[in-house]
Amino acid sequence: MNFKDQREKFRSKAISAKEAVKEAMQKIKNDNLNIFINDFETQALKQADYIDNNFEKFKNTPLSGVPIAHKDIFCTNGLKTTCGSKMLENFVPPYDSTVIKNCNEAGSIMVAKTNMDEFAMGSSNETSYFGAVSNPWNSDLVPGGSSGGAAACVAADITSISTGTDTGGSIRQPAALCGVTGLKPTYGLVSRWGMIAFCSSMDQAGPFSRDAFGCAALLDAMASYDEKDSTCSKRIEKNFESLLTENFGSLKIGVIKNIDSLGINTDVMQSYETSKSVLTGLGHKLKEVDFSELSSGICSYYVIAPAECSSNLSRFDGVKYGYRASNQKDISNLYMETRSEGFGDEVKKRILIGTHVLSAGFYDAYYLQAQKVRRMIKNKFESIFKDVDLIFMPTTLDQAFEKNRKDSDPNRMYKEDLLTIPANLAGLPAISFPNGFKNSLPVGGQFVGNYFSEDLLLATTHKIQEVTDWHKMTP
Ligand code: GLN
Repeated sequence: MNFKDQREKFRSKAISAKEAVKEAMQKIKNDNLNIFINDFETQALKQADYIDNNFEKFKNTPLSGVPIAHKDIFCTNGLKTTCGSKMLENFVPPYDSTVIKNCNEAGSIMVAKTNMDEFAMGSSNETSYFGAVSNPWNSDLVPGGSSGGAAACVAADITSISTGTDTGGSIRQPAALCGVTGLKPTYGLVSRWGMIAFCSSMDQAGPFSRDAFGCAALLDAMASYDEKDSTCSKRIEKNFESLLTENFGSLKIGVIKNIDSLGINTDVMQSYETSKSVLTGLGHKLKEVDFSELSSGICSYYVIAPAECSSNLSRFDGVKYGYRASNQKDISNLYMETRSEGFGDEVKKRILIGTHVLSAGFYDAYYLQAQKVRRMIKNKFESIFKDVDLIFMPTTLDQAFEKNRKDSDPNRMYKEDLLTIPANLAGLPAISFPNGFKNSLPVGGQFVGNYFSEDLLLATTHKIQEVTDWHKMTP
């Protein structure tokens, strides 16, 4: 069921929050795609009772009585938060992250925490300590990552909304591979407090739903100024749901010159071309823009993200909290063994790269250069947005791919994020939505907008979804 119908059923009293939770719980128990790390039946039923008993209070909140699954990167008070890692397998935070608190107050009920790549590092959801997630369209394929569980949860119709995080594409890429809508907000729109850090200068939480409507309502709940996150924006909140039907008129939409030279798969390109005619059919004007720097983004990201992660993950040392290796003879062995045993290979690889690029003698050659490229990309976006309202491009190079893919090119997995990373480097908002169907699998397209243009991104996607059916398809 889509989000709007689910919420309406609660508001019209056709279904109670408790019944909605029981339905979702049944589907969670039947999940055979490894979408969830933990479910919380007792707490969810209790919360549902509370919402049912306070119907008047919740009947007009953005997420009234709707079951939700949260990515297991958000700290939940008294409930396990693993971040997909052995390091935090038994970690129980003593507080709720701001996103969780906001969603609770908006009337949603957390039923489960979704599986994810370990510490949000990955593009296939295969790096999770709790095993790979399968794609609901074909269980031999990956759902994308790192928010693979969150995207699969909505695609498989288990909950109508879920939360994710996007540091380099982790909302948009799995949204594309699973055939759902996902939005990465402007950096700073949603508080990062209580969200386990990977690369703090790019990490941003955002919504998944089948359509732009569900994403707008969930973003209304998630976004808030929070003094506990010093990078959180004080900009006045918009009401994204009510702005969905705003008429922004005929837009100038930028399409990137020579984008077909970036190694995008032909089926993805075909869907992209078809979508362009949907855009012109809606009265928008397409304008070619030059963005030859676009593909440099990935090189910059894979220096900056490991650098920040090597620093952020230094807190996992077996002393304060999390996994601790047993029987160690001294403190340095304790650190070493804890981190050797507690982290998976991908995480270790990134810590090594990050430590290397930040070390004396290499800092100037790598980290500083990467920051210069980051600034160049931000500047380029700014000059393009002087001329166009939005940029439109495919979300990914490929559709969902096989698990355990053995690439002849060892960097192919990293290249999956070629088209998503630039928005993270610049801190810009971007939305991915289903824009085609090839080989019995969904294809995703994305808009990137100027800072704080989530209303425009959502409304434009909403108009497309009024005249197309890609977002209605179910596995
Ligand atoms: N796939 C990218 C990575 O592995 C992005 C991850 C993310 O956005 N969390 O780093």
